[in-house]
Amino acid sequence: PLRIGVLAFQGDVREHIVVLERLGAEVIKVRRPEELGSVDGLVIPGGESSVMDKLVRLFGLYEPLKAAIAAGLPVFGTCAGLIMLSRTVLDAMDDQKTLGGLDVDVRRNAFGTQVDSFETNLSIPEITSGKISATFIRAPIVERVGPDVKVLARLEDGRIVAVEQGNLLGISFHPEVNGDTRVHEYFLGRVATSLQPQES
Ligand code: GLN
Repeated sequence: PLRIGVLAFQGDVREHIVVLERLGAEVIKVRRPEELGSVDGLVIPGGESSVMDKLVRLFGLYEPLKAAIAAGLPVFGTCAGLIMLSRTVLDAMDDQKTLGGLDVDVRRNAFGTQVDSFETNLSIPEITSGKISATFIRAPIVERVGPDVKVLARLEDGRIVAVEQGNLLGISFHPEVNGDTRVHEYFLGRVATSLQPQES
């Protein structure tokens, strides 16, 4: 089976593990550099990105994670995880840093307080021809995408909520909370492809 790490400091760790195991992956909780070295792909869950950033740095994972991303490790970030993968965070907490990798600017808590949580059906043609029910919880929005970033999904008003660049996948919503496993399946497919020998 594919060995998938879940960054396990904070947030929706358990929910992702349940989905990944249901899909047949072997799941490793990642909190140390050694654990990171053994995985074929990594999920960075939703939670609170500023806290996750602090813990990543405290546990000495900041540089190893950046190096793994630069080396092409497939990483799937949802919500706070998308923020962690972004180049720039708008409305960041004081000294909040990101890992980068996705050439995007995201705005934290972009929906304000009245609508800090909602569900909607999204079209993500790369993933499925049907609609995906997406749960947004104090979600970020992607406000700028660089030339090498592929936009996978937008809200009806055009705002970007799912992107991909190389082996990195970032989405604003929480696919681990509502039983729809298609985004995880898509990521596992990407991980499997990344393990195939490159043609030259
Ligand atoms: N608002 C959170 C943050 O800034 C993200 C919320 C989430 O992951 N559901 O990190």
